[in-house]
Amino acid sequence: MTDPHPRPIFARLTIVGLGLIGSSLARRARQDRLAAEIVAWDASEQVRARVAELGIVDRVADDAREAATGADCVVLCVPVGAMAQAASGLLPHMHAGAILTDVGSTKQSVIRELLPLLPDGVRLVPAHPLAGTEYSGPDSGFSTLFDGRWTLLTPLEDGDPAAAAQIASLWQGCGAMTQEMDAAHHDRVLAIVSHLPHLLAFTICGTADDLEGESRSEVLQFAASGFRDFTRIAASDPVMWRDVFLNNRDALLEMLARFTEDAQAMARAIRWGDDAFIVDRIERGRRIRQSLIDLNQA
Ligand code: NAP
Repeated sequence: MTDPHPRPIFARLTIVGLGLIGSSLARRARQDRLAAEIVAWDASEQVRARVAELGIVDRVADDAREAATGADCVVLCVPVGAMAQAASGLLPHMHAGAILTDVGSTKQSVIRELLPLLPDGVRLVPAHPLAGTEYSGPDSGFSTLFDGRWTLLTPLEDGDPAAAAQIASLWQGCGAMTQEMDAAHHDRVLAIVSHLPHLLAFTICGTADDLEGESRSEVLQFAASGFRDFTRIAASDPVMWRDVFLNNRDALLEMLARFTEDAQAMARAIRWGDDAFIVDRIERGRRIRQSLIDLNQA
């Protein structure tokens, strides 16, 4: 049988932004020879030096021009608010036929910002690996981050299917399962499964932090697992999450409004002692948790 992902998939793969996601991609691509040459570029001099020290790529470029020149695929792994700025330094040096892709957590905003910058012949394939931790920076990445996780591709309507297939191969080569999805649908789904939970985690930590005196110190001292789990999510990178919230504004505000209504319904049930309602909500939560375990996504 022919290998569905012949190696290497790319002759030269350039990864831009070597934080958690970029450095994990670099590590896996190098380990499994997904590209003949892996080049890194990061706006931060400190990050570039650290990536060279870690030896997770073949070459660290000195500037955006060097990073983009000769690459047949460039992967933007920078915060979604920095995508356009990062791309504008790279795109003029990319050749016709090369692929530009990204890993951003919002898709409509990235497409809106990158499309007008795209030179003739450069093919855009937006993507989003649904894998991460609360850590950031080049030391936080690891090669197995994407194993068994989904990567969603949101190809353009008039995009090149061959380019989308190559990007799907790249993520499958990283151990991920891939699925194509419309960008607007992606943003609504992610608003509920990822963006709203982060918003709640940041908010509940803020609420606990606002408590006065003894209560506040007791929150920290006796933090039960419920609060502890929220603090893990709330430890995520502020720049990344600020950008996600601002770039998925409509879907996030819609999900927050629905959540607020449902939380009010729960408050009402607690006030009036409606135990059937309360038990029903808790049982729904348990069923969702069990479904995740069954799907191997817990
Ligand atoms: P990260 O660890 O903070 O790394 C981002 C890197 O990009 C940093 O080294 C940053 O340098 C660099 N950078 C910023 N602007 C740049 C520019 N204009 N040109 C070149 N490099 C630039 O972030 P991450 O967690 O890997 O997230 C990266 C992307 O993946 C984001 O779009 C995020 O939405 C998406 N994503 C994240 C997760 C997750 O759980 N973390 C999951 C899926 C997708 P400085 O530190 O100097 O700014």
